[in-house]
Amino acid sequence: MPLIAAGFHGMEYLTVLCALRFANEYAAKKRNQGLLIVPCVNPDGTEIALHGAKSACRYEKFVRNTGDEKRWQANARGVDINHNFEADWKNVKRRETEAGITRPAATRFGGFCPESEPETKALTKLCRRENISRVLALHSQGREIYWDFGKHTPKSCLSLAEKMSEVSGYKVASPEPIAAGGGFKDWFIEKFHRCGFTVEIGKGKNPLPLRDFETEYPVVRKILRVFTAEG
Ligand SMILES: [Zn+2]
Repeated sequence: MPLIAAGFHGMEYLTVLCALRFANEYAAKKRNQGLLIVPCVNPDGTEIALHGAKSACRYEKFVRNTGDEKRWQANARGVDINHNFEADWKNVKRRETEAGITRPAATRFGGFCPESEPETKALTKLCRRENISRVLALHSQGREIYWDFGKHTPKSCLSLAEKMSEVSGYKVASPEPIAAGGGFKDWFIEKFHRCGFTVEIGKGKNPLPLRDFETEYPVVRKILRVFTAEG
């Protein structure tokens, strides 16, 4: 069964709306195939980016002292969930350290060890428990599709990425090894040797304005339909 996950990063709440709308549409029709949707992997971060540090409850002070609450991507503990998966961890940490990110922050701090965060653990546990055939992670922005991670990437992933690109006009992004690692799709590919995609929705500066949703969603829907093999 395929899995779609969204809302990894606080400012990327348009992805949550996409996942929820798609879940509604998918559930309305009779299907042969099940689908798992996790619409908001990082609810704390999403709340902080939308409503400020006060929504972080006991982490309110910490969030205020740690970074810009309006440009918050991490969870309430200042860990970037999409850098917290165990995939090329050593290089992820090396790059963070080189960029001067050595402690919790609004963005790009991957944690003190992989899977340190409950949000990360919840997703890896779900993938281990269910027989997940492929995953697609929604992020914003850039209108790009990432499909590759290391030598265990199945060959079929590129052709599926190309199909998603064809229907949407989104670009199949050339993988940059230097920027890879630590992400959900990276972990999934490496762990299961199955396809994992990151789709960067919309174009502009995060957070994308809510008004972009109605124009972008029909395009995202086409991608998700190809991904779920529903045509
Ligand atoms: Zn993101």
